[in-house]
Amino acid sequence: MKTLVDFPADRLQARNFVGGSWSVGTGPTREVVSPYTGEVLGAVSYATEEEVGGAVEAAQRAAAHWRRVPIKERTSVLLSVRNLLFKELETLANSAARECGKTVTEARAEVLKGIEVLEFACSVQNGDLGGALEVSRGVSCEYRREALGVTVGITPFNFPAMVPMWMIPIAIAMGNSFILKPSDKVPFTPCLLAELFAEAGLPSGVFSVVHGGKDVVNCLITDPTVAAVGFVGSSAVARSVYSAATSQGKRALCLGGAKNHLIVVPDADLSVTIDGVVSSFTGCAGQRCMAASVMVAVGDAQRMIPEIIAAAGRIKLGEQMGALIDAASLERLHAAIARAETAGARVLLDGRKVAPPSGYECGFWLAPTVIGDAHSSMECAQLELFGPVLTIVKVATLDEALALEAHSPFGNATSVFTSNGGVARYVAEKASSGMIGINVGVPVPREPFSFGGTKESRFGSGDITGAGGIEFWSNRKKITAKWALQADKNWMS
Ligand code: NAD
Repeated sequence: MKTLVDFPADRLQARNFVGGSWSVGTGPTREVVSPYTGEVLGAVSYATEEEVGGAVEAAQRAAAHWRRVPIKERTSVLLSVRNLLFKELETLANSAARECGKTVTEARAEVLKGIEVLEFACSVQNGDLGGALEVSRGVSCEYRREALGVTVGITPFNFPAMVPMWMIPIAIAMGNSFILKPSDKVPFTPCLLAELFAEAGLPSGVFSVVHGGKDVVNCLITDPTVAAVGFVGSSAVARSVYSAATSQGKRALCLGGAKNHLIVVPDADLSVTIDGVVSSFTGCAGQRCMAASVMVAVGDAQRMIPEIIAAAGRIKLGEQMGALIDAASLERLHAAIARAETAGARVLLDGRKVAPPSGYECGFWLAPTVIGDAHSSMECAQLELFGPVLTIVKVATLDEALALEAHSPFGNATSVFTSNGGVARYVAEKASSGMIGINVGVPVPREPFSFGGTKESRFGSGDITGAGGIEFWSNRKKITAKWALQADKNWMS
């Protein structure tokens, strides 16, 4: 049997990391299952309410000290983390691939993107973190950035290394302590991250990990000590976490789901379009919030459909594409494809008929699937499916394509494939999403350009990385000073 990644000899046990110590949670235990094989990889035991309270207390003690550590010292610890992340790149990539089901190449890329955010966090020491101005004679106004205190991040299953790293480094660089509640489907890679932060010399309690589900999230977001909540996951949960956290007076930024549109116009370059569309909807088995979900073929662009289908049909399961996270996802996708057929759409490429890679028959595999003859009002063109399924909708004009995009409740990403700069500019201006691609199927902004969508893909304002991250994880304190000897009397006095 060919193995996608090595499996550990013994079952793994995810532990909480609180105040610099590891312990197994004493709440309910859940098995963690390999998406490749359906085998049990290990277990995660949830933290109890009391254990979550202990993590918050440890984080509060650490925050009181860490906020006073000069920023250059804080970022020098992060620089050591960066070196360790590169040293352990393969370990992290194998761990993320193993528990999440993606390929090792994809997992390596997610760790590298996480490192990129960490590098951005290290650069904040050289950026605009404060300023002063003499606003009238003898009177100065100053602002400085201050830590918020205890901050929390709640993350989804699809990027066990990258999404936590969108938040941890910037929150910590700004002087906060940070508690991560990772997805209970992928608890092991976040533990590896915690080990590396500790090995780099981060003081105990500055970064903690607590495992769990809804109850642990509720404990964290209602704890009066927690100042800010970052969340990434599905829109329904993002909305409820946002409203619970903000109703308690906390700062919250909650990224939700997506339904991304790729608009293909007739003058698009064929090979760029095929590559862009196919890699976007099949990468990470379509389990990316930036994955293509609806291809909108404008006019004669529909002539490209047979070649897109042919290219998607050549993707090899287990080599170029990984598995779905669990049996429930596989079942949900099979049902959604069947409903699309019942609604009158046609399955042009049927991933349900492709056998799993040999030796992995009990895993959760679905090959690339293309649904054609779809109407924009159908469920397959409206709902987030979160799998390697592309729905193709044909329209006559670019404005019709943009109207369809604007109608979506989600607003993460929209791409246009065209050789015409005017068309590209028009789409970039008119599209409603927060991240726009021009001949790019997965328009994730590289740092320092920050990450964040619009509409139901984001509850709260600002972006989660880049300058948005600095703003979110810190407070601007304003100081106005007057020294009597020099001061004029004026309308401000
Ligand atoms: P999810 O919403 O089920 O879970 C996300 C996190 O919330 C997990 O830590 C989970 O344990 C916790 N959680 C689950 N139910 C909860 C509840 N009722 N109350 C409180 N917490 C709860 O999401 P998922 O299935 O892990 O991830 C896939 C989703 O995440 C997709 O919708 C995808 O689009 C989205 N996502 C969005 C982005 C983005 O940047 N917008 C990035 C990655 C993933």
